[in-house]
Amino acid sequence: MTNYGHRIRFGVEVLGGSDAPGDAVALAVLAEELGYDLVVFPDQVGEGGADALSLAAWTAARTRTVQVAASRLDARARPASVVARGAGSLQLLSGGRGMLVLGSGSAGEDLGVVEEAVAVIRSLQDTSRSRVSSAGTYHRLADAEPGPALDREVPLWLYGADTALAALAGRVADGWVADLDEVGVEGLAGLNAVLDRAAIDAGRDVREVRRSVTLTSGDAADVSALVALVVDHGVSSVVLRVRTGDATQLRTFIDDVAPAVREGAERALPPGALSSRPVRRADVRARRRPGIAYDHVPDDLVATAVEPGDAAFGKVRSTYLRGGNPGLVLRQRNAAEVASAVGFAREHMHLPLGIRSGGHGISGRSTNDGGLVIDVGALNAITVLDEAARVVRIGAGARWRDVARVLQPHGWALSSGDYGGVGVGGLATAGGIGFLARKHGLTIDHLRAVEMVLADGTLVRASATENTELFWAARGAGANFGVAVAFEFVVDEIDQVGWAQLAFHAPDPAAYLEAFGRVAVTTPRETTPFLILGQGIAQLMAMVDSSDPDVIVSQLQPFAEIAPLMQQQVVIAPYAAVMNMFPETPHNGRGEPVSRSAFTREITPGFAAASADLIRSGASHWYQIRTVGGAVADVAPDATAYAHRDANFALAVMGANAQRLDRWFEPVRRQSHGLYLSFESDRNPDRIADAFPSATLDRLRRLKAQLDPDNLFQDNFNITPARDHTRNAS
Ligand SMILES: Cc1cc2nc3c(=O)[nH]c(=O)nc-3n(C[C@H](O)[C@H](O)[C@H](O)COP(=O)(O)OP(=O)(O)OC[C@H]3O[C@@H](n4cnc5c(N)ncnc54)[C@H](O)[C@@H]3O)c2cc1C
Repeated sequence: MTNYGHRIRFGVEVLGGSDAPGDAVALAVLAEELGYDLVVFPDQVGEGGADALSLAAWTAARTRTVQVAASRLDARARPASVVARGAGSLQLLSGGRGMLVLGSGSAGEDLGVVEEAVAVIRSLQDTSRSRVSSAGTYHRLADAEPGPALDREVPLWLYGADTALAALAGRVADGWVADLDEVGVEGLAGLNAVLDRAAIDAGRDVREVRRSVTLTSGDAADVSALVALVVDHGVSSVVLRVRTGDATQLRTFIDDVAPAVREGAERALPPGALSSRPVRRADVRARRRPGIAYDHVPDDLVATAVEPGDAAFGKVRSTYLRGGNPGLVLRQRNAAEVASAVGFAREHMHLPLGIRSGGHGISGRSTNDGGLVIDVGALNAITVLDEAARVVRIGAGARWRDVARVLQPHGWALSSGDYGGVGVGGLATAGGIGFLARKHGLTIDHLRAVEMVLADGTLVRASATENTELFWAARGAGANFGVAVAFEFVVDEIDQVGWAQLAFHAPDPAAYLEAFGRVAVTTPRETTPFLILGQGIAQLMAMVDSSDPDVIVSQLQPFAEIAPLMQQQVVIAPYAAVMNMFPETPHNGRGEPVSRSAFTREITPGFAAASADLIRSGASHWYQIRTVGGAVADVAPDATAYAHRDANFALAVMGANAQRLDRWFEPVRRQSHGLYLSFESDRNPDRIADAFPSATLDRLRRLKAQLDPDNLFQDNFNITPARDHTRNAS
């Protein structure tokens, strides 16, 4: 018995596609409807007509689940770099359903050309490298940029029936296909043995290479022979060769033969022998990090987990602002999977653990070096629960730009922040200082319930009536208590808003700041201004919660008079348009972000002078003041873990060098009180005490001791349990 444990899949190889491409695609679409797993288009490059990669791409566009392959591509006839881009694009556009099968041309030919093609295609899919070169005999690459960035590498199979090709498949391929008519069962067994030997000699696990046969209708009727192929010869993909127009044969095979083969094989093999758990290639496994039980990732997480050697790693390793190199990123699709991931993380307490929703954390702690990341980005559904009461359930992985877009047609908005790419999970567990804050309060002030997976893996709901202490803590310090999977908010009726961008000549930053402070505290609540102050220039962005031009102009006018205006733009627009001003960019953060935060009740002369020194020093390239107060201050300081309700201004400062920034920031800090952790990156434990008044911190630490006594959740500003438990973090 030779079986490699792979789940059995049934496919169809569509013949005649080059002459009748439309019919071939129609047959492929039917194949998906009938329940086939795989559709394969063989290349007939010498025959003119439509080519295999185009047929595969067109089919992918018209199907949803079936895997789509361009097959028997002659590595001699096509430049590997062109094939790589085509296959990568197919993979990208099909949502990971692409596959590539290279052929050898004729038997006995030098297979160096195929081996080089495999190497070039793989290297162009490895987006963790910035450039790739290859000095091959047949396929050369000079300083090429890899890409497109993929979520899943395109499986690369080889097609052919000679010994050298089987050996090459063993050394380098993800799968091997032989024509059963050509090799016969005995030939198949012999070639399989060659493949296994070559794989072992190359240091691979034989299970890395899937085995497949193509058959014609004659062989396809013999169920017991097919069962034997699966059970005794390790075949896991059975591909029926069908000419366009032959729908009857297509139906008969999948309706009558395929279930019988599956049943027969399952009966003959030990229970649970066939699995869909991926077996990663040796070169991918070689990039694993120590201390992670990769082979014990729970079954429900394995399909979406990303390891350092995987194609998707380039997309998930870093965050918006910080470079990272985690050992494993677990991406969940539902709350049960989050519980599973938390369980796995509990078994890895010796490693750092990052929790990620949108990856926009200023401190960048949702990535790490060598640890785990729990990524709930896919939990991004936004659902209206109660139209009359304006209750909306929002997944932690949603982005604020999407929230705004979904709420807009209802005439609603939810105060979030100033940037639509920020994730809901990170912001809604910390506070949410947004452009509607002075009129409508913080994001957390709209929270009615949060669903959270706790350290022990239980999913709980916290609200004003259930798990009330957790509900209190989740509004300001949520990241220390669990992984939020969804939030219920009551949103506001907000249609169009006034949106202003003003630029001022501000040669004296201290004078500008003081004047800004005076105007801001007296301005009506409808207006929430954010100020970015630089050397000689001040940029003011302000939202006015009104669609009345007179109200907008009258509330902005005092700001316009602070200093000479260099530029101004005021528009009436939906809140969603402001949240969607900037497109999403890939998360390619590098190095360590350096950010400092402070709250202040007023902009005193001392605060303004220290700020001006900081700005002039050049130690900071970003000095931003958001106004708070108003409705934020209507909430009692002890009503939520976010306690600095009396602050009218929240300062965020960024620099390149922490020591240099601190030298100039310390005088500002001395003129302020408290800070907002979401704008801070300093890991000094004193910052926790700045963020939470002592009564709040004591209460949080007591709850932490109850809900997370082993301190699993500590990635971003750790509130240690009242009994002191700590572990290493990176
Ligand atoms: C360009 C930019 C603009 C910003 N503007 C504003 C603003 O106007 N107002 C404002 O208030 N903030 C703002 N922020 C800060 C932002 O709110 C926080 O950094 C927030 O944590 C980002 O959320 P995220 O899910 O995108 O981040 P992530 O990097 O995914 O997470 C950051 C941290 O939040 C915690 N966390 C994430 N997801 C969860 C979860 N599901 N459950 C529990 N804890 C979780 C973790 O501790 C994690 O380390 C801004 C940040 C950036 C980069």
